[in-house]
Amino acid sequence: MKIQVETLSNGIHEYKFVVLPEEIFSDDLTVPADLSIQEVPDFQHPIYVAATIEKNTRHVYLKVSIHTIGKFQCDRCVEYFENEIDNSYEAVYRYQSRVPFPLQTGENDDFIILDENNPIIDLSEDVRQTLLLSVPMKLLCKESCAGLCSHCGTNLNEQPCDCISEIDERWNSLVSLKRNN
Ligand SMILES: [Zn+2]
Ligand SMILES: [Zn+2]
Repeated sequence: MKIQVETLSNGIHEYKFVVLPEEIFSDDLTVPADLSIQEVPDFQHPIYVAATIEKNTRHVYLKVSIHTIGKFQCDRCVEYFENEIDNSYEAVYRYQSRVPFPLQTGENDDFIILDENNPIIDLSEDVRQTLLLSVPMKLLCKESCAGLCSHCGTNLNEQPCDCISEIDERWNSLVSLKRNN
């Protein structure tokens, strides 16, 4: 996913890429610091990347939208489930030699310097990082996931277990105990 910007005319340019997960995720993956390894999504579906570049004399503006399907582990029942991912990021690039230009008011000085000899924008690393951080707020296979029985570990989405009724019975005996007092 490389875009050669040197030969581009000023103006807007659109790109579309489809990559396979194995093309951007290697085995020795560095997990972002604020994620535990269980939270890192597993990717098995093609990754669709749409990039828009707006080039002018001093800057290259980049906006990237990413769509794919990630595989996550449910917090309640620990089964795996798939979830669509739509995420995006933006970046601004500048040429080193053109940096001394004074920044205009309101202009963001948070930009990436383009290599003068090899002005290529490689999307792979940023797409990878964006995907790794695309973790849903709630990791649930479904909103109504019944989870595992905390007593016997049965997946309550698949079948009920006897623990609930046992607890009910204990409550009932407590209730009758109270009544007798
Ligand atoms: Zn679940
Ligand atoms: Zn149980």
